[in-house]
Amino acid sequence: MQEKSEKQGGPSRLMDIVSNILVVDDNRNNLELLSDILKLEGYYVRTAESGEVALQEVAQERPDLMLLDIMMPGIDGYEVCDTLKRRTETQDIPIILVSAKGSIEDTIKGLSHGADDYIRKPYNEMELIARVKAALKMKHLLDEVRHTNRMLSNQKEQIDTIINTMGEGLFSVNQDMEIVFFNSAAEEITGHNFREAIGKKCMQIFDCPDAGECCSPGPDFVPLRDQKVVQEYLLTRKDGRRIPIRKSTRFIFSSDDEVIGRVEVFEDISREKELEQKKADFISMVIHDLKNPLTTIKICDKIVLNETRRSIDADLTRLLQNIEASADHLLNLVNDLLDISKLEAGTMEFNRQRIDMNDIMEISINTQRMISLTKEIEIEKEFAAERYPIHGDKDYLLRVMINLIGNAIKFTPKGGKIRVTAKDMARLKPVDPSTAELEVAPSVLRISISDNGTGIPEEDLPTIFEKYRRVRGTTDIEGAGLGLYIAKVIIEGHGGRIWVANNSDHGSTFTILLPALPE
Ligand code: ADP
Repeated sequence: MQEKSEKQGGPSRLMDIVSNILVVDDNRNNLELLSDILKLEGYYVRTAESGEVALQEVAQERPDLMLLDIMMPGIDGYEVCDTLKRRTETQDIPIILVSAKGSIEDTIKGLSHGADDYIRKPYNEMELIARVKAALKMKHLLDEVRHTNRMLSNQKEQIDTIINTMGEGLFSVNQDMEIVFFNSAAEEITGHNFREAIGKKCMQIFDCPDAGECCSPGPDFVPLRDQKVVQEYLLTRKDGRRIPIRKSTRFIFSSDDEVIGRVEVFEDISREKELEQKKADFISMVIHDLKNPLTTIKICDKIVLNETRRSIDADLTRLLQNIEASADHLLNLVNDLLDISKLEAGTMEFNRQRIDMNDIMEISINTQRMISLTKEIEIEKEFAAERYPIHGDKDYLLRVMINLIGNAIKFTPKGGKIRVTAKDMARLKPVDPSTAELEVAPSVLRISISDNGTGIPEEDLPTIFEKYRRVRGTTDIEGAGLGLYIAKVIIEGHGGRIWVANNSDHGSTFTILLPALPE
């Protein structure tokens, strides 16, 4: 009954197979009695009348359980036990010794020969059946554990093979950031071998000075279960060589949601970076080559326009003016793209000297004056005629100011108003943490360009300084979305900050902070 319910509960598929029991006794009557009892219980029973026959039977077919008499002529029960327990292929067969030898010493001796249980003759039939069942249950459970272990170790073998043949480096760390696993590719990429890496702190092996919080995220960082953090940085290998790598991190959580470690997969992206560089060089070469013919078109157009202004009709003049405007536009675009490729290659250099921002602002306003007049836009200056000396690159700062004033004109309707203001602020109090480092400057110049135009949709404000960003709905207005990106790089390259906010009524205000020089 008990066995049936176990089958229904289905804890073990192996229990469903009829168990095979070998009964060994030199006394035929005992043998038959035992065999009958077990057969009645539904077992498949085989018998052997001596130790020798028992060993032959086992060799023919492994039983699930043996009931073994001790005192037999020839090979006795102890010797059968010893022989079977010595051989790997038979050592797992459970053996119950059934003997008239009834002292505690006999029991101990039997067990010391490797028997699993001991039943004294004359036995109680119920007890015998209960012991047989218990021994079989134990055997089936052990078989299952062994089977599961084999499966797990096969799976582990497979996973180890995959992990050690994958091209990406893989390592894992515990909550103390100590490395607990390090695969072959990780050894190859870092130059450190498994033994050197295990137990070390992540940052001891991943010497990435530019990686910021790579190995130890800041106190405010809250990792999420499915979060994958991808970073690129330069890794210093054991041999001192620096290589670019891309690393993705996943966090390991305990059942109560605590981070207990991380798995890091990383790859050497030197080749990718090399190709990127080649592509960038090629693009920059093409852009550069565009510049000369464009400048030629522009100059020739101007000459033709000047030479023939009086002799040609208005339509032709307009056409020539269009050519000039288009060449200007293309030239601006080419210059922007050239700057970006310089920026990305890290070759943009600022020719910094003592300059006066007052001049820069005046020149920028004058440059844009004609366009503002055609749109009947008034440009109001709110800065004193005093000097605003800074240490900067005149040409690049002019580009920033011209771009900001030009944008203000572009995105302000006819009849609008633009205000350019400047203030020299002695030792700014850090209103915003991003301006804190400007405090080291003896004084800070604050310039703002404000318009009462379209303004910038709130959702676009955080990304407006990114490359190729343009606000939806403004794409019919000329532009490539590069000006603000370049402006930000130039201002930050001068140790300054630039940001934008919408005005409470209409339009937006771009603000620049620049470290100023003493007068
Ligand atoms: P471009 O003007 O060449 O497209 P920018 O990087 O200078 O590139 O500007 C990016 C986008 O930001 C513009 O296309 C426009 O959508 C928005 N923008 C910039 N300045 C203003 C402004 N003063 N008012 C409204 N929108 C602006």
